[in-house]
Amino acid sequence: MKRLTIFGNPVEHSISPNLHNKALQEFNIEGEYTKTHLEDGSKIKEIFLKNFDGANVTVPFKEIAYQLCDEVRGIAKEIGAVNTLVNEDGKMVGYNTDAPGFYKCIENLSLKSALILGAGGSSKAISFYLKEKNIDVTVVNRSEEKLEIFKEKSFKTYTHKTFQAIDEYDIVINTTSAGLTNNSLPMPEDLIERTLNKTKFVYDIIYNVETSLLKLADTLKINHSNGKDMLLNQAVLAFNIFFNNSLDEDKIEQSMKKTI
Ligand code: NDP
Repeated sequence: MKRLTIFGNPVEHSISPNLHNKALQEFNIEGEYTKTHLEDGSKIKEIFLKNFDGANVTVPFKEIAYQLCDEVRGIAKEIGAVNTLVNEDGKMVGYNTDAPGFYKCIENLSLKSALILGAGGSSKAISFYLKEKNIDVTVVNRSEEKLEIFKEKSFKTYTHKTFQAIDEYDIVINTTSAGLTNNSLPMPEDLIERTLNKTKFVYDIIYNVETSLLKLADTLKINHSNGKDMLLNQAVLAFNIFFNNSLDEDKIEQSMKKTI
C-alpha cells in the first residue's frame, strides 16, 4: 500500500489528489494520495517519515521542507526549495519538479530570452532552471528585497520603478500571485502593455483562473498559456519519482489528464 500526500496551508483547494489517485488507479497500484493540512512546517519531516512513502509540498512549506531533508537531489539544491519528498528507508529525500515541469511546457519554443515577473519561490525555480538551459533571464519584481538572491547569481534585475520596458523578450512569464484572487496585473498597466507588445509569448503560471494578464495578452493578440500544463507536468514527474522513475511518463500523463 503506497501512502502519498500533499502538505500545505491552505491545502483544501489542491487538485493534486485527483491527479495522483487517478494515476494510481490506472496503473493498478494499491495506494492512496491524501491532503495534509499543516500549521507548523517544522513538523513536516516527523509527520512524513512516520506516515508516508512519498509527498508533494506546496505553499508555504517548500523552503522549510528543503532545509529538513536528509538529502536533496537535482536542481532543488540550487533553488533551495523542494516540492516532492520520498521516504527512502527512513531518510527524507527531496526533489523539485516545478522547474522541469515548467520547462517541458516551453522547450519546443526555442527561446533565447525570458522576462520573469516576480521573485518568489516559483520565480526562483523557473529562473534558475531557464538559466541552466542557456536562456537569458531578466527578473522584475514589485519590491527590492526578494531580488537579492537573483543579483548574487548575476541575473539582470529590476523593480517596477527601475524597469523601463525597452528591451524585447521572447517570452514573458508571470510567477506573481497577482490576478489569482482579483483582477490586478503583475506590473503597472503601461509597463505591462509596452512589454507585451514586444514579446511573442505570454505564460501565466496561475492555473485556476483566467488572469487579467492573459486577458490583456488575448486582446493584444499575443500567444498565451495558463499554468495548467505546468501543474500537470510537475505532477507527472513527481509521481514517477515516487516509483523510482520506473513508470511510463506518457501513460502517467494520459491518466492524469483525464481529471483536468
Ligand atoms: P511567493 O509568495 O513565493 O512569491 C510571490 C511573488 O509575487 C513575489 O515576488 C511578490 O512580490 C509578487 N506579488 C504578489 N502580489 C503581487 C501583486 N499584486 N503585484 C505584483 N507582484 C506581486 O509565491 P510562489 O512563487 O510560491 O507562487 C506564485 C504563484 O504561482 C501562485 O499564484 C501559485 O498559485 C502559482 N504557482 C503555480 C504552479 C503551477 O504548477 N502552475 C506551481 C507553483 C506556483 P513582492 O516580493 O513585492 O511581495
